[in-house]
Amino acid sequence: MNINTDLLHAHQLHARLTGTYKPEAMAHISPIYQTSTYVLEDFDSAVYLNQHVDEGFVYTRFGSPNCDELEKKIAHLEHAEAAISLASGLGAISTAVLSIVKAGDHVVFGDVIYGCSYTLFAKVLSRLGITYTRVDTSNVQAVADAIQPNTSLVYVETPANPTLKISDIAAISEVVHQHEGITLIVDSTFASPYLQNPLDLGADLVVHSATKYLCGHGTVTAGVIAGSKARIDRCRMPYLQCFGAVLDPFAAWLLMQGMKTLGVRMERHCSNAMKVARFLEKHPKVDRVYYPGLESHPTHEIAKKQMHGGYGGMMSVDIKGGMDAVRKVMNNMKIFSLATSLGNVDSLIQHSPSMSHFDMSPEERHAASIFDGQVRLSIGIEDVEDLIEDLDQALKLV
Ligand SMILES: *Cc1c(COP(=O)(O)O)cnc(C)c1O
Repeated sequence: MNINTDLLHAHQLHARLTGTYKPEAMAHISPIYQTSTYVLEDFDSAVYLNQHVDEGFVYTRFGSPNCDELEKKIAHLEHAEAAISLASGLGAISTAVLSIVKAGDHVVFGDVIYGCSYTLFAKVLSRLGITYTRVDTSNVQAVADAIQPNTSLVYVETPANPTLKISDIAAISEVVHQHEGITLIVDSTFASPYLQNPLDLGADLVVHSATKYLCGHGTVTAGVIAGSKARIDRCRMPYLQCFGAVLDPFAAWLLMQGMKTLGVRMERHCSNAMKVARFLEKHPKVDRVYYPGLESHPTHEIAKKQMHGGYGGMMSVDIKGGMDAVRKVMNNMKIFSLATSLGNVDSLIQHSPSMSHFDMSPEERHAASIFDGQVRLSIGIEDVEDLIEDLDQALKLV
């Protein structure tokens, strides 16, 4: 062989000739299939597999062993027939939504949801002839009243970002499924499959930003959708294939590592958050704490019934003194990092009105209790006394 051929093939020829070519060595942790394409055995299997991409690996946009392994695990955790992984939470949400809605349809979604999910419905899909109604989804009657003859989707986020409002999935499912042809999607990111299983309560699809608790370490952006095989097949082909929000094999591999500790992490997130919420609730510089584990939370009873005995690691806090007080607190935190995102092992603080929810109008934000003096805390798994001390020293400066 000549040099340029050798540069590409010498190691493979050597391995084949010496019998050391073992693509399926028995690794304890799956290898990372960092490849965009797969060598197909012969012409006939190439023809077959290109038309049956779920029976083998052809091209990474159609599927990879790392994503496949992850998807089987997610399906198991969400008690679903099938799951699909995507490049981000919004990749999952937009793919799931577009697998359902078409021009002329109407969507019902919550008045409090993640900022970019709001933007998807209010500013992107509305341009494609899809109308919407925003409702307080913690009020089941309001959801029922918002349904129109052309409604094809009810979209609920619970617990909701950032005010932790809880919506009753089982009750909404009952209302939605009295109508023919309406799909119920639940964004369960804040709960993770450890604390809540929306499909068991009647949702048709559950979506997660796996960037958050599922990963847990802030090392990837990823999203997942779980549901029936027919619905997930449809998300995969044509929607994921055409929009292309495919999860990278290395990101899928990192997510697999992160998910191993989801249970122990969530237990600690929940117990730390409960203690921090109780501390802040009594703090003289705090007006209000939004944490569904507190009896004072307006939808605490639904959370108690619907979640598996824990309320998660997320809370929002109204600080006395508005934006100036917020600036002082956020600039003086020592352990909490000033960063958006959430669900990491380490604690984060952000200002929802100007960060995650800046795209909503001030009127929409205020109506949804997202006030200018509000910070959102993602409580990590540090020693809780240190987190409380950090918050206390910053609040004392206000
Ligand atoms: C972060 C988040 C998303 C978006 O996920 P990305 O991975 O950032 O695309 C969607 N829903 C909720 C509730 C979130 O917190």
